[in-house]
Amino acid sequence: MVLGRTVFPFNPLAERPKRHLQTRFQNAVSLNSRQAISVVEPVFVHNGSMGIRAFWIALLALAVIASCSVRQPEISARFYVFGTLVDVLVRDTDQATADAAFAEIQQQLQALHRDLHAWEPGPLTRLNQAFSLGRTVTLGGDIPILIEMSRWMEEMTEGRFNAAAGALVALWGFHTSEFPVSSPPPTEYDIRRILMMGPSTFDIHADGQTFSSGNPAVQLDFGGIAKGFAVDRIIALLESRGIDQCMVNAGGDLRAVGGSNRSPWRVGIRGPEGVQVGIELAGRGAVFTSGSSERYLEQEGQRFPHIIDPRTGQPVSGLVSVTVVSDEGWFADAAATALMVAGPDEWQQVAADLGLESVLVIEQDGNVIATQVMAPLLIAEQKVISAIRFVTLPAGRFSEG
Ligand code: AMP
Ligand code: MG
Repeated sequence: MVLGRTVFPFNPLAERPKRHLQTRFQNAVSLNSRQAISVVEPVFVHNGSMGIRAFWIALLALAVIASCSVRQPEISARFYVFGTLVDVLVRDTDQATADAAFAEIQQQLQALHRDLHAWEPGPLTRLNQAFSLGRTVTLGGDIPILIEMSRWMEEMTEGRFNAAAGALVALWGFHTSEFPVSSPPPTEYDIRRILMMGPSTFDIHADGQTFSSGNPAVQLDFGGIAKGFAVDRIIALLESRGIDQCMVNAGGDLRAVGGSNRSPWRVGIRGPEGVQVGIELAGRGAVFTSGSSERYLEQEGQRFPHIIDPRTGQPVSGLVSVTVVSDEGWFADAAATALMVAGPDEWQQVAADLGLESVLVIEQDGNVIATQVMAPLLIAEQKVISAIRFVTLPAGRFSEG
């Protein structure tokens, strides 16, 4: 199957490998009608028509250019969530429909920002406090489904993705919006104190809507998955309003619907300067990148990226970035984070275990490696393409067979 040229199933786990868990996420992107309070103000930017844009990502190595090869009216709006600007672009729809959708998106993003933020006081920080005190909490909203998704990711990646390891992320000073972080790295003693407790999403017990943790070290941090989840929510909302040509771009991580072979969505891969590769999405697809070059702690010239290997408590090393193309945002987002942890030696096996097909990684020394399946989706100058090493992934270890 070539991603981006296929209609994807809605149920994210239906075609994914499974181990023992039989979780299902049918409601993962169902709409939430909760009224939002005013947390962030969106900036609306309406484009009557974008026209034809030249696609050239060399000038914008960290940005995404959305373009389409056939002139169509487009309308866009800009929002903010989890410290990221989110551009929503719709085409082939009227202004009133777009405006109504944008107003709802604003509410949804405010609610997600409020509910899922890892350090701004809100439902998640209250939940984490309850976990550390051994108390039970009654939960509604989106946190339960994110716990389930994260648990599935933790199991499939054998602990490389671990949303319960927020205490380690906080210990390294990454619960901040100010980068680079300049506080000293934590001591080995502090790291070990958390590792000894082995926080895991499997320590969380749910009894109906009541949640508790048998492990006081569990601190949920959805930083590796929430942006993708938010992008999925927006796409679901747009589709529910009959908008079937849309792209949601959250700072270079994005999901698009409705491109065709005649008029594909084209996006630049986020990567270090000099990496000039784009992706063409015909149909539907999500493109998410995790990287070590934007958010990090810097100490005496050494950089420690904000993605932590939960098994060692140390920031990841070896890969500059991982880009995953898949069907849904939450999955592509979490998978990219997990593959950064897997590193140069293990990412291919972990990608296969997750059932991924389209992955592109940039190694520390600048080598670019991509899966064969990704090849038809890539747009770049021939000399860039010929420098990419294409690989075939091994068999996944956890498929049901
Ligand atoms: P991303 O940019 O999507 O790779 O997400 C990075 C964010 O995910 C960090 O800022 C943390 O909030 C969180 N995080 C860091 N390490 C991990 C990990 N091993 N598993 C899950 N989430 C993580
Ligand atoms: Mg991620």
